[in-house]
Amino acid sequence: MHEIDSKMRLKLGKVVQFIFLASCLLFFMTITYIKTDRASAEADEKNDFASVWQERVPQSLDASKEYENIEAEVRKVEVIKRTTTKAPFSQDDLFISVKTTLNYHKPRLDLILKTWYKLARDQVWFFTDSDDPEYSEKTNGHLINTNCSASHNRRSLCCKMSAEFDAFLESDRKWFCHFDDDNYVNVPKLVKLLQQRSWQDDWYLGKPSIRAPLEILNRENLTQKLSFWFATGGAGFCVSRALALKMMPIVGGGRITTIGENIRLPDDVTMGYIIEHLLKVRLSVIEEFHSHLEPMKFLKPEKLSEQISFSYSKYENEMNALNIEGFDRRVDPTRFLSLHCLLFPNFSFCPKK
Ligand code: UDP
Ligand code: MN
Repeated sequence: MHEIDSKMRLKLGKVVQFIFLASCLLFFMTITYIKTDRASAEADEKNDFASVWQERVPQSLDASKEYENIEAEVRKVEVIKRTTTKAPFSQDDLFISVKTTLNYHKPRLDLILKTWYKLARDQVWFFTDSDDPEYSEKTNGHLINTNCSASHNRRSLCCKMSAEFDAFLESDRKWFCHFDDDNYVNVPKLVKLLQQRSWQDDWYLGKPSIRAPLEILNRENLTQKLSFWFATGGAGFCVSRALALKMMPIVGGGRITTIGENIRLPDDVTMGYIIEHLLKVRLSVIEEFHSHLEPMKFLKPEKLSEQISFSYSKYENEMNALNIEGFDRRVDPTRFLSLHCLLFPNFSFCPKK
């Protein structure tokens, strides 16, 4: 009786041992299956992305060399997005493009080179329409001949914007800011503005020059109107890298010129159309940006140091310029030299107090 009992116990032990081993095996098999499943889902996701992207890549982009780079770039952004909460940003990560033309090199670039450019030598590039060895040297090689035609028409301005945008995408910078050559940029304040936002989110920063969104006819359905805001190019605007990558298939490689021609609107309006209407990213209004479409004299002297961009213009014989103390108006008609000395009094050309 006792012998039978111990045999039974032995058998029972073996059964328990078997059940334990089988459960372990089942557990490991399940884990491996989940892992493989997840990996293949990720691969599917990538393939999906690649196929969607490929569709949007224009036929003219050859052998997808650029496509590969851009795809890698987008992935990089995605990976960083997943791993970092707040991305650091310093002035070195900024790309500033200034649109200019051969005839304005002397009258406009000299003023920029003497003032705010000195605070952002490695961040500013000038986009022009001719070779100019003198200014190429003065800008330390940062003068880019876009080969766009030297005129103020829509096609030529879109052509320059396209070159500016492509150059930014080719750089590894995190923010793209465009200005005209009659802008003064308060560099530290611009950097501060961008530091308050993440370049990994979609940002379109600037200032509209009209009071209501622009309404145009929808060319695909002429009975419909569509409306959008745009940042006026003459006040400057900035785009985060995350947004620029989304714009790439639409704007890059000269496509902005085609869109501009289709909707018959200038470069800055075309940018607004693409960002607000096509990509559904809203313009964030930055009150501290100013174009010469605003009367400059109304900017309060005590608030000047907080502003980010300024401009000037001459209409008939009247200057629209800041109303500030400083150099004689004959020496400094635009008031940019006086402004610069107000903001950065230690510059060598500023009067010693
Ligand atoms: N510009 C240009 N080609 C031209 C004329 C102007 O690229 O033939 C540039 C100019 O350098 C400036 C911007 O376009 O950055 C605006 O030009 P401007 O200030 O003369 O005119 P606005 O449109 O402000 O009245
Ligand atoms: Mn202007």
